[in-house]
Amino acid sequence: MGALLPIAVGGIFIFSGMSIMRNKLRQLRLFETKTYSEYIKLNPQQIRNGRVACNRCQSSDVRTKALMNKTYHREHYCGQCGATLYYSPEGV
Ligand SMILES: [Zn+2]
Repeated sequence: MGALLPIAVGGIFIFSGMSIMRNKLRQLRLFETKTYSEYIKLNPQQIRNGRVACNRCQSSDVRTKALMNKTYHREHYCGQCGATLYYSPEGV
């Protein structure tokens, strides 16, 4: 019993470490693929008078929110339905 505990604890550590890594990678891929240029390429009809509109509810109420967790990215989302439209790096 005493020998199993460190193994169990180590296993939990490795497992949670791996899932954090996996989430980070998925997030990075999202930032690379869900960009402004990609959004307007996929939704060229959503640009009206130089403004971006939501591809779900057509609202032009697009808001920006800074993502925490040292991601250095901003999320651009619809203020009407909450859909994430694209991401952009901070400080650009
Ligand atoms: Zn919307």
